[in-house]
Amino acid sequence: MKIAILSRNAKLYSTQRLREAGEKRGHEMKVIDYLRTYMDIASHRPKVIYQGKPLEGYHAVIPRIGAPHTFYGAAVVRQFEVMGVFPANESTAITRSRDKLRSLQLLAREGVGLPVSGFAHSTKDIQGLINLVGGAPLVVKLLEGTQGIGVILAETDKAAQAVIEAFRGLDANILVQEYIKEAQGSDIRCFVVGGKVVAAMKRQGPPGEFRSNLHRGGTAEKVRPTPEERSTAIRSAKTMGLNVAGVDILRSNHGPVVMEVNSSPGLEGIEKATGVDVAGKIVEFLEKNAENGNTKDKGKG
Ligand code: ADP
Repeated sequence: MKIAILSRNAKLYSTQRLREAGEKRGHEMKVIDYLRTYMDIASHRPKVIYQGKPLEGYHAVIPRIGAPHTFYGAAVVRQFEVMGVFPANESTAITRSRDKLRSLQLLAREGVGLPVSGFAHSTKDIQGLINLVGGAPLVVKLLEGTQGIGVILAETDKAAQAVIEAFRGLDANILVQEYIKEAQGSDIRCFVVGGKVVAAMKRQGPPGEFRSNLHRGGTAEKVRPTPEERSTAIRSAKTMGLNVAGVDILRSNHGPVVMEVNSSPGLEGIEKATGVDVAGKIVEFLEKNAENGNTKDKGKG
């Protein structure tokens, strides 16, 4: 097969591994910086043009769209869909998963376990919002944050009030969540490919840190998810419409709760912690599904 990897940087671990895994399995792999493409959208033969030439003959694309470039990146994926090229993740699913609130609403509708959460912009009833999640300690999150930035633990109602008021002054959308203390600064990242958990790791924040993000100095080790965690991860990916997803789960005393579903999960942490060839699993998924032009919405979304 001829497979395009949509990535801004060919040197990134995930990009390199996907390329390697594809080549090892006999595919022709090309890394495309999606921001440098342009699209012919109105003609009978829609095209994506890159380095002066139309991209032709592709069977599949693997989107690795960075959060700041979701709008343009998803449009490029959609253009490939219109051209009949099979995407590892569809454009609509990528856009959907990038909206944290929308994701939580969809997951809640499907009955997936979530931390008790409230969402607000500039309510004056701050105490009401705090009470909604059972009072302090609680977690306040800036909706636009990634990699743990803008995630704050407020240990008392007073601290929570001060933080929420400060965010109100900044004109920000905020998520207020019950604090899952029993997770003890760790979470479980389940890597889902094609409706199966192919690898899972437990991430632990450094001492004194409740955030387990690897970018914030956390460490990771291989973990065997419980059957309930597995089914939670699979249902979450399915609800979001993602074939490839990183589902972040906290172990709460009311069962697994989902924090986030990531549509371009990094490969480095998970492959190094588990020894699983996750890149190979993604390529294998494309081999099984791409040939028959299996895309669900063919760019209709
Ligand atoms: P980001 O998307 O910026 O990584 P997250 O919502 O994933 O933000 O939060 C970052 C980290 O903070 C998580 O990996 C988790 O360890 C911790 N965390 C987030 N929400 C909670 C919560 N409600 N209870 C306990 N820990 C949390």
